[in-house]
Amino acid sequence: MLVVMKNDATDEQVQAVINHIEKMGFRGIPIPGVLRTAVCIIGNQGYVDDSQLLSLDGVKEALRVTKPYKLVSRETHPQPSTFSIGGVTIGGPNPVIMAGPCAVENEEQALTIARLVKQQGAQVYRGGAYKPRTSPYSFQGLGQEGLKILAKVREETGLLIVTEATDVENIELVEQYADIIQIGARNMQNFALLKRAGHTNKPVLLKRGLAATIEELLMSAEYIMSEGNSRVILCERGIRTFADTTRSTLDISAIPSIKEVSHLPVVVDPSHAAGKREYVVPLSRAAMAVGADGLIVEVHNDPPHSISDGRQSLYPEQFATLMREIKGIRFGL
Ligand code: PEP
Ligand code: MN
Repeated sequence: MLVVMKNDATDEQVQAVINHIEKMGFRGIPIPGVLRTAVCIIGNQGYVDDSQLLSLDGVKEALRVTKPYKLVSRETHPQPSTFSIGGVTIGGPNPVIMAGPCAVENEEQALTIARLVKQQGAQVYRGGAYKPRTSPYSFQGLGQEGLKILAKVREETGLLIVTEATDVENIELVEQYADIIQIGARNMQNFALLKRAGHTNKPVLLKRGLAATIEELLMSAEYIMSEGNSRVILCERGIRTFADTTRSTLDISAIPSIKEVSHLPVVVDPSHAAGKREYVVPLSRAAMAVGADGLIVEVHNDPPHSISDGRQSLYPEQFATLMREIKGIRFGL
């Protein structure tokens, strides 16, 4: 429920509403707007009796929010969210391009790729130090050594770093090195990790689960936001369908669907969706054309020898083509 205050409501009246909500056993989060403030009630499982709230001074009306998510919703924040991370604006007029290998393999590989993607105009470097792998026998990532290499990449190239925290144990270390913390598809409903990510001061890139609905993705973002971290970037990375020519099916409709109901920025990962490098450039063009706020793409200097996801990693020349071809085809919604 949203308690909408009158235009001339005082700060004391807003506070009295918050206090009353707390007495009801919920939390009240003030959302200042241009004309008036609204107080969002969170923590209620179902029906909230608004009769006493409506009688408080300064209250204009109480709106029932039918969707189960609130903080991610445009109803609480009508304008798209934009936030600046180390001088790079996400959710603004220019798309943000995140590129790099699937995994950090060694310093030379990481730096070589970083220089290549930086030269083509990427602003953020991606690379996993902790890798969620289907098989326990596959390369699991370099761990802290990988994070240290990522710090060198940032130092040398000025690129921001997005890298994945795979559990509540390693997020503490990841947040010390990363500029953006990634939560992977397989962890989209790891609620302990989501809550912990709500307490970090770094933005979070939340990937859609392999079989998650849009509502489930938004509810996961709500977990992070309800713990106090409002800087969440959503990522469409393909879902599992019966289509068998790609690794996953890029749900291109997810971008306008999310943007209709949520103010959060949305980026697209065409690499994990496609699973094949030859589809990555066309899917990137499509993502831009439906209004994605950016891309996260796998690029490798030597894809055939990549330790993970070589088949979907772009050759540097293909990444240059991608950067050229997406220019000018981004439409806002
Ligand atoms: C990744 O981006 O490195 C990754 C593992 O992706 P996803 O979680 O989308 O499978
Ligand atoms: Mn990968």
